[in-house]
Amino acid sequence: MATMTKAYAAQTGDKPLAPASIDRRDVGPRDVQIDILYCGVCHSDLHTARGEWPGVVFPVVPGHEIVGRIVKVGAQASRHRVGQIGAVGCMVDSCKDCAACGKGLEQYCDHGKTVFTYNSPDKHFPGKMTYGGYSKSIVVDERFVLSVSEKADLAATAPLLCAGITLYSPLKHWGATKGKKVGIVGLGGLGHMGVKLSHALGAHTVLFTTSASKVEDGKRLGADEVVISRDEAQMAKHAGSLDLIVNTVSVSHNLDAFTNLLRTDGTLCLVGAPEHPHPSPSVWPLIMRRRSIAGSAIGGIPETQEMLDFCAERGIAADVEMISIDQINHAYERMTKSDVKYRFVIDMSTLK
Ligand code: NAP
Ligand code: ZN
Repeated sequence: MATMTKAYAAQTGDKPLAPASIDRRDVGPRDVQIDILYCGVCHSDLHTARGEWPGVVFPVVPGHEIVGRIVKVGAQASRHRVGQIGAVGCMVDSCKDCAACGKGLEQYCDHGKTVFTYNSPDKHFPGKMTYGGYSKSIVVDERFVLSVSEKADLAATAPLLCAGITLYSPLKHWGATKGKKVGIVGLGGLGHMGVKLSHALGAHTVLFTTSASKVEDGKRLGADEVVISRDEAQMAKHAGSLDLIVNTVSVSHNLDAFTNLLRTDGTLCLVGAPEHPHPSPSVWPLIMRRRSIAGSAIGGIPETQEMLDFCAERGIAADVEMISIDQINHAYERMTKSDVKYRFVIDMSTLK
């Protein structure tokens, strides 16, 4: 059995998103049903809805920064209660059995069975894909539902579910802390959370932006220094000095400009996932200082809860621009122009 649920979907990559109806499964023994209050808008939603990434299957219902009210829990589900606030990020299932899942790294499931919140094969509806949070309601295995305090600013918390954890995880993994110099590249949804989180972890934080208009905001959000990345003289001042750079840029670009800024053994961690590959990086800046280029995908479920609790204790949330669901196509247009301050969040009560 399934319930028809209102949603917003892209039917093809070249058409705007429009109202649609989708099936949601009935609540199973270990499931939780959430009525969605807010859904953040990630650039990954745009990449997917426009078919920019390989393997996209239409229709696509994007949305993986979901916060809402728990309205039903299965008979054997014990982690959440009806009436509480529940949140869902980029994953809704995995094998739960392999070494990676055992370590709470479900995004790196050894069996490749990570089920992403949208555009992953849906084992509950064979032949169909999962549908995300641009919808009224969602049913999710309780293990993939995060807890959020009723007292939190729920709209500003939604972006933590992807943008927040995608920056928190590499910052923790590569040891961003007091005494370290950390660069964040790009001041969009991910980047603005990176600046806030790196600052909160105590690192000396340098924002690299292409937008001169974002310099003041960068400092307000927690950057100790802001560098215009297209200004070679400004970039040169930081040569060989950064321990870690997390690059959130959503389009392909020359990475050498950033590898050259790393100190010996420093790491450039790529989290941005552009449609087209970056030009091949030069080997010499890597070889001569044992520098690394790495990647990182979101964060596991336990670490996501840790990040939510870390942010709640420190009053950290996203800077959001609230939109109604019928403004989503305009919001995508603005995102392609680097014009969002700094995360769009959809008020899902506007989906009628
Ligand atoms: P966003 O809000 O659109 O921000 C992207 C930022 O990149 C822009 O604000 C801009 O910052 C910079 N940028 C844009 N065009 C540029 C250009 N031509 N040259 C240099 N910089 C440019 O996007 P987002 O939601 O933060 O997502 C960023 C990327 O991360 C996307 O590719 C997304 O799919 C990916 N992502 C990856 C993961 C993961 O797990 N690895 C998770 C979520 C998202 P400035 O104006 O400051 O230059
Ligand atoms: Zn995302």
